[in-house]
Amino acid sequence: MGNYGEWKGVPRENIPWYPRVDLDKCVGCRECFKFCRHKVYTWDKDNNKTKVAEPFHCVVGCSNCAGVCKEGAISFPPLTMLKDFAK
Ligand code: SF4
Ligand code: SF4
Repeated sequence: MGNYGEWKGVPRENIPWYPRVDLDKCVGCRECFKFCRHKVYTWDKDNNKTKVAEPFHCVVGCSNCAGVCKEGAISFPPLTMLKDFAK
């Protein structure tokens, strides 16, 4: 049992909507980490790169942090994927 709430009646942790970071592209600029207010990211000090620590804190349908990454390192599933979960 998680405590991430629900999205349209579906437990949040059943919906695979969260950022994926390509660490080969990430240059450690911290922009995504500073941008998101939902504590999805933490800072991996060992690698000096961002880390998706709390994927289910990500707001379903939001992909704004992908836009702040100049390296194009952040990606999301297609929005159409959400139709399978919305009744
Ligand atoms: S914005 Fe992009 S390059 Fe910068 S830390 Fe985040 S993933 Fe890495
Ligand atoms: S998509 Fe939105 S809520 Fe999710 S990690 Fe990025 S900025 Fe945060």
